[in-house]
Amino acid sequence: MAATFHLDILAASVPFYRGDCVSLVIPTQDGEIGVLAGHCNAAGAVCAGELRFGAEGEPRRAAVAPGLFKIDGQRVLVLVDAAERPEDIDVNRALRAREEAEEQLRQKRSMAEYQLAQGNLARALNRLRVSGRM
Ligand code: ATP
Repeated sequence: MAATFHLDILAASVPFYRGDCVSLVIPTQDGEIGVLAGHCNAAGAVCAGELRFGAEGEPRRAAVAPGLFKIDGQRVLVLVDAAERPEDIDVNRALRAREEAEEQLRQKRSMAEYQLAQGNLARALNRLRVSGRM
């Protein structure tokens, strides 16, 4: 039997998954980080992307918004602003969010507003990707 570690995924402080896990893939700005039991301790930033984790049976997938992760011994904590299973993603809402963000990016705005719109666009595109609409 494959070695397991304890995984806690919190989406805006609400438990999204809590339990044993065999493998985890975390999206980061530098690419994906794969985690198996016995991984060295580490911490870093999660970016908008697809999180994959597996215990028994089928690997699970989730669209996640940015956040943080911490690997500490046999415990891994993933703390993100939002997480959705592919089947829970409201595609029309994500399409609307993409349109709004693209419109915001077209307008001449401050750097702060531009970066906010970029974040909105990244989350919308990620939801569309994970839901299979892109
Ligand atoms: P929107 O502008 O549509 O609210 P957003 O990117 O600003 O999108 P977030 O701040 O990332 O939304 O998330 C707020 C809450 O709404 C979270 O609980 C998140 O899971 C949920 N959420 C956002 N967009 C979707 C979607 N397309 N489908 C399902 N849940 C969504």
